[in-house]
Parts: sequence; structure tokens; C-alpha cells
Amino acid sequence: MAKNYSDCFYCGGIVDERLMPYELRWQGQLFLFENVPMGACTQCGEKALKPHVAKSIDRIISQHRKPTKTIQVPVYTFKR
Ligand SMILES: [Zn+2]
Repeated sequence: MAKNYSDCFYCGGIVDERLMPYELRWQGQLFLFENVPMGACTQCGEKALKPHVAKSIDRIISQHRKPTKTIQVPVYTFKR
């Protein structure tokens, strides 16, 4: 696979691209993206998003595009 990522920022390991789920919160709402091309360190698992991928995600959310689907997420309040 072509190496498009620099070595891991944390451990210097090799970073491979994989399609992974990515979640982020925006204005208090949780958004989930599937099949996001992300760099993942083969040593420590640290993930890296390319700037153009991060920009596409921002654009999709800010333009309020229709999602592929909407899922329900169980929420628990942890009691000590
Ligand atoms: Zn690493």
C-alpha cells in the first residue's frame, strides 16, 4: 500500500490506511461516519485523519446533509 502518512506522532511506528468508523460531536450532537479512510499506527493504534478528510466531514455536517441512516444510541449514567 502506498504510504501516504508520516510515521506515528507518538511512537514513530508505521501508519497504515484503513477504513474505520469515526465519531464526533458537533453542537452537542453525536455524528457517526462509516468507512472513513484513516491512518492507524500499526504499533500503538493511534489514529490520524487527513486534513482533506476532516474537511469533508466538516462540510457534510455543516451543510446538514441527509444521513445514510440514523441509529439509536443507548445512554447510561454511571452510578458510583
Ligand atoms: Zn504509534
